[in-house]
Amino acid sequence: MSKVPELYGSMVFNEDVMKQALPVDTYRALKKTMRDGKSLDIEVATVVANAMKDWAVSMGATHYSHWFQPLTGITAEKHDSFIAPDGHGGVIMEFSGKELIKGEPDASSFPSGGLRATFEARGYTAWDPTSYAFIKDGTLCIPTAFCSYGGEALDKKTPLMRSMEAINRQALRIVRLFGSDATSVKVTAGPEQEYFLIDRKMFDRRKDLIYTGRTLFGARPPKGQELEDHYFGAINPRVSAYMAELDRELWKLGILAKTKHNEAAPAQHELAPIFTTVNIATDHNQLTMEVMKKVAEKHGLYCLLHEKPFKGVNGSGKHNNWSLCTNTGVNLLEPGSSPYENAQFLLFLCAVIRAVDEHQDLLRISVASAGNDHRLGAAEAPPAIVSMFIGDELTEILEAIANDDPYVGKEKVLMKVGVHVLPKIPKDTTDRNRTSPFAFTGNKFEFRMLGSTASIATPNVFLNTIVADVLSDFADRLEDRTGADFTTALHELIKQTYIEHKRIIFNSNGYDGEWTQEAHRRGLLNLRTTPDCLPYLVRSENIRLFERHRVYTERELRSRYEILVENYCKVLRIEANTMIDMVKKDIYPAAIKYQKLLADSIVSRLAVLPDVDLSEDKALLEKLSGLSKELLVGAARLQSILDAADEKTTQLDRAVLFRDELIPAMTELRFAADEIESNSSSEYRPYPSYGEMLLTV
Ligand code: ADP
Ligand code: MG
Repeated sequence: MSKVPELYGSMVFNEDVMKQALPVDTYRALKKTMRDGKSLDIEVATVVANAMKDWAVSMGATHYSHWFQPLTGITAEKHDSFIAPDGHGGVIMEFSGKELIKGEPDASSFPSGGLRATFEARGYTAWDPTSYAFIKDGTLCIPTAFCSYGGEALDKKTPLMRSMEAINRQALRIVRLFGSDATSVKVTAGPEQEYFLIDRKMFDRRKDLIYTGRTLFGARPPKGQELEDHYFGAINPRVSAYMAELDRELWKLGILAKTKHNEAAPAQHELAPIFTTVNIATDHNQLTMEVMKKVAEKHGLYCLLHEKPFKGVNGSGKHNNWSLCTNTGVNLLEPGSSPYENAQFLLFLCAVIRAVDEHQDLLRISVASAGNDHRLGAAEAPPAIVSMFIGDELTEILEAIANDDPYVGKEKVLMKVGVHVLPKIPKDTTDRNRTSPFAFTGNKFEFRMLGSTASIATPNVFLNTIVADVLSDFADRLEDRTGADFTTALHELIKQTYIEHKRIIFNSNGYDGEWTQEAHRRGLLNLRTTPDCLPYLVRSENIRLFERHRVYTERELRSRYEILVENYCKVLRIEANTMIDMVKKDIYPAAIKYQKLLADSIVSRLAVLPDVDLSEDKALLEKLSGLSKELLVGAARLQSILDAADEKTTQLDRAVLFRDELIPAMTELRFAADEIESNSSSEYRPYPSYGEMLLTV
């Protein structure tokens, strides 16, 4: 077993490899491209491509692939081998600069939400040199953006890169006001990933998991998560072996897998990487999810990434830790030690506060999916209401500024921004509230509403854009001020922003039912479901916002809306069809078999013992018989709703029908099946039980 530092990044065409493999001037040109985001000229690309190919071949690779992130939310790859005829009946391994820079996959089967006319099937992929190429399964994977021929983004990476540019532009304007000589501001992200592991044999016997990623049936086991004995518990040997191999595979890919532990629900775990630049963190999170699944197979396990695989136990989320960092190494969300640094910190803090308050709808939309609807607001995950936690100290400081009151900290000082030093803010006091959707945790924000399956791209695109928008306004207001005038303007801006947007701050328990009412009084949005929030995406102010920062064109934004609504409908349709299938083919047949056994036993026992009291047996039979009828009625009801959905003219109408009628009907149908499960012999259960799946790995 090789040592970790040697293993780390061994499958990545990273700095070290580049330095060794590239001539000095090529290396410099490439670095410049990576730093400035300029496109690479073809001569340089040719040299890089050749070096990449030689390295990849020496590592055993035979193919290359442009690796991209279409709007399906997963990654896509098309493999081409390096071979080219050598003219003498043999082959040589070849990879040109053109092939590195640009690919032309047939785009017609990827969702485009109307962006790509059917006659224009081709899209193209363009190399993102800021994210290193890597080898996966014998293929050199080149991270790329994916666009239509008209230049419209068909993927998640392109808008992410654009949003990074947007926030870079605006944040630089601000830091310059504070005398910084930084030339770039990058977004950093560290996504904590939750997942479930179950035995592969169990998975194979659950059609619902196979088709939908979550269980659609299943009675509560005698023991679930009530003893709270799983969170941070000792990791059992089988899971431990899995995690060890997972770490090694991720390290090879240059992914900074750092923390692993058991989560709250049985069979639930978490992996957190060390943060990095957001586009790389996004690529890495996509890879992490893929590797998690692959390594599980090797261990006879199955990795479930769905937001709600099991009813009655916690679902899985993804915490998106987010901050801003200058190329001079300053974390802009780190409270500083000088008055100026502090003033800058407070300004960025207020920018985020205002952005979150003004764009609650967008943050909610950025995490919306059929799967995540099961979590948000279910008292296990942050509510669907977007609010912010900033902790008592910062709240007191901002209150003191707002009221021109002395700040009652350790020493009493009248907080004058730009003049006073902030008291040291202990990290642990800002990190306790686990129920907040958007929490300040010492030197970064943690956006906690993300579902476990989804790409982190969209939440970060939205976050970057809304913060960029506020920073742009701040810069407009501050740029012509100097000296004392600047300090006064700054103080006023912080004060005014806090006063206008403090309604978004909520430092208490977000799972509390009273919060819903309080939030309503404050005028905060409560967009409970995906169909509730999606229409907000295409409101004119949101279209203008994204256009203003050149992140999405109107057409691009509308296409995302179409895809999101359509996806919601598709997911629910598949779930309903799976339920119908399971009821008709497995659950109902098993139920009547068991009832026959009961009925036969009643008849034969009465024959032998005519006076025996079989009233309970008969009652059970009657109950099961009634529930079986409900199965058939319920399945027919799902079918009729699905048929009715076909008659709807818009996708949104369909989504609303599914939310209002299909989901409740699915819940009823499940109830009947779960009651049968709870009252029947396990021999007649057509699939593994919750207990078997959750408590046996
Ligand atoms: P926890 O949330 O479990 O207390 P930490 O707060 O230390 O743990 O970190 C959680 C995640 O936040 C990790 O993925 C970490 O890399 C990431 N993180 C830490 N600092 C930053 C930062 N400045 N920007 C983005 N992510 C960060
Ligand atoms: Mg955390």
